[in-house]
Amino acid sequence: MIAVLKKETTDRQIHDLTEWLESMGLKVHLSRGDYATIVGLVGDTSNIDRELLESLDIVESVKTISEPFKKANRKFHPEDTVVEVGGTGGTGEGGSEGRSEGGSTVGCVKVGGGNFAVMAGPCSVESRDQIEEVAQAVKDAGALILRGGAFKPRTSPYDFQGLKDEGIELLEHARAHTGLPIVTEIMNPNHLPMFENVDLIQVGARNMQNFELLKELGKINKPILLKRGMANTIKEWLMSAEYIMAGGNENIILCERGIRTFETYTRNTLDLSAIPVLKELTHLPVIVDPSHATGVARYVKPMALAAAAAGADGLMIEVHNNPSKALCDGAQSLTPEQFADVMKGVNKIREVMK
Ligand code: PEP
Ligand code: MN
Repeated sequence: MIAVLKKETTDRQIHDLTEWLESMGLKVHLSRGDYATIVGLVGDTSNIDRELLESLDIVESVKTISEPFKKANRKFHPEDTVVEVGGTGGTGEGGSEGRSEGGSTVGCVKVGGGNFAVMAGPCSVESRDQIEEVAQAVKDAGALILRGGAFKPRTSPYDFQGLKDEGIELLEHARAHTGLPIVTEIMNPNHLPMFENVDLIQVGARNMQNFELLKELGKINKPILLKRGMANTIKEWLMSAEYIMAGGNENIILCERGIRTFETYTRNTLDLSAIPVLKELTHLPVIVDPSHATGVARYVKPMALAAAAAGADGLMIEVHNNPSKALCDGAQSLTPEQFADVMKGVNKIREVMK
């Protein structure tokens, strides 16, 4: 809410008004111009009697500025949110700790607020050997979370659709061996019971505005990785985060994965400027997926480095033990060796950024 004060208002009157507004729990921002003083009110203005404020002698006009997204808005939550993935899943004070599973300790990975996390793995889980080999390789290179699609949103119904529940089980096996928490994509709210042991649930670009799915994810107590829709604005993306948060689940990581433009040399166009824009607008962590953004393995490293330099809180990168044989997205998948090289570069950038 904004109140514009009349030109002749004295300092004493401004002081009294400010005190009154602050006594109602609001933050007051004053902006004094030559012709008017503007009083910006931040906080829950629902208790303010707008007519009463408007009727004051010193007030010229009152305007209500409604923020379309509230829970995701940095204005109302200035500190960075740190999302915890894996571990015991505790969200209370002190957060979660590592938990033991199959002889390994599943790490508690923090994302946001200065905590940088790389998620890596194949586009799709294809077999037990494949996911376990890739999981070990990305872990050795420094990834903190294992990715792998079990339900695949494919453009063609004739393409490999994923191993579904078996894919999730294979991810769980790989987690038990490596201790890496797992992230995988959900496409249908009816599948939620299958995701009970998944550490981070991904909403893919194609489902960013599947509002019924978002509402269901708002009811659970598990972190969500919300990818940007391929033709969605930042505001629409934040409104989708708001859908999940409005239901009570505030553990959301945003993932920029490129948007559709007229360009055809890359699969999408990576909107790196979304990082500083989001850092201003929201307290939620922001990561970047340079694999789906470019669609070409050799472009992944430069974009990963650029994302780290632009202030991303992490990366999601596709890695396959044999990209030329991958059942999905082989052209953009890195070999474990290429991924290790990207990690070295990213660590150097992070060092410089300190
Ligand atoms: C994926 O990460 O496997 C995926 C399908 O990505 P996107 O939703 O960004 O296309
Ligand atoms: Mn993919």
